[in-house]
Amino acid sequence: MEDKKVVLITGASRGIGKEIAKKFAKNDYNLIINYISENTDLEELEKELKYNGNEILFVKGNVANYSECEEMVKQAIEKFGKIDVLVNNAGITRDGLLMRMKEEDFDSVINVNLKGVFNMTKNVIPYMMKKKSGKIVSISSVVGVVGNAGQTNYSASKAGIIGFTKSLAKECASRNIYVNAVAPGFIQTDMTSVLKDDVKESIGAQIPLKRMGTAEEVAKVVYFLSSDESSYITGQVINVDGGMVM
Ligand code: NAP
Repeated sequence: MEDKKVVLITGASRGIGKEIAKKFAKNDYNLIINYISENTDLEELEKELKYNGNEILFVKGNVANYSECEEMVKQAIEKFGKIDVLVNNAGITRDGLLMRMKEEDFDSVINVNLKGVFNMTKNVIPYMMKKKSGKIVSISSVVGVVGNAGQTNYSASKAGIIGFTKSLAKECASRNIYVNAVAPGFIQTDMTSVLKDDVKESIGAQIPLKRMGTAEEVAKVVYFLSSDESSYITGQVINVDGGMVM
């Protein structure tokens, strides 16, 4: 079998994750696509992600659940024998001011966004350690750096990813494993489509480039951090935010 590189992307059924998957597919990767929703149209998704005869493995599972992550990684290794790149992308929001935030809204955001990164990385890293190479890119957010009213849960989870990334980069550098994070600003996806127009306008006005970003613009940076073009970059958080945070 032709030895294409292999990438595992969590939450890749739509939004930023799907664009990341397309970017890797176009660059000759075999794909492991994680998703959670029962309603995901896998046939349609497969059509969108098929390039140059690449192989695609779909793995359904909740990143917040450790044993489901263990099972997904097991299936991936059974099929491809290796994982060259892990992209921790799956994420959710449950916004609200702290005064009104329910405990379950805090827990679910931390469990998916932060514990999910631990669950996937912990299961993938032994294989990267063994072959002494690997790239891990996790999707944080600019609000993990600067905070945002109404998002204490989400900001905490995204700030947690930054600490996790820097610590793991230090642990794994000697094994040639690179660990970085990407911090998107305000990107057009389902996650932001729920915001009211006046909220979008006021956020847009604060962005030096005066527009929302696209999922493709985030995907390009994720791909760069997973490629040999970034051979002297580890433990970093790269903002993709039109200059929102500097
Ligand atoms: P999105 O359109 O809402 O897509 C979220 C993806 O995550 C979906 O594929 C969803 O799967 C998956 N997912 C949700 N919970 C999951 C779970 N427990 N286990 C596995 N997969 C799960 O979001 P997006 O805007 O593309 O965001 C992608 C990442 O970028 C997130 O980490 C988000 O926090 C981050 N981000 C986004 C923005 C933005 O402006 N959009 C800004 C900064 C950071 P299903 O389709 O199966 O539900």
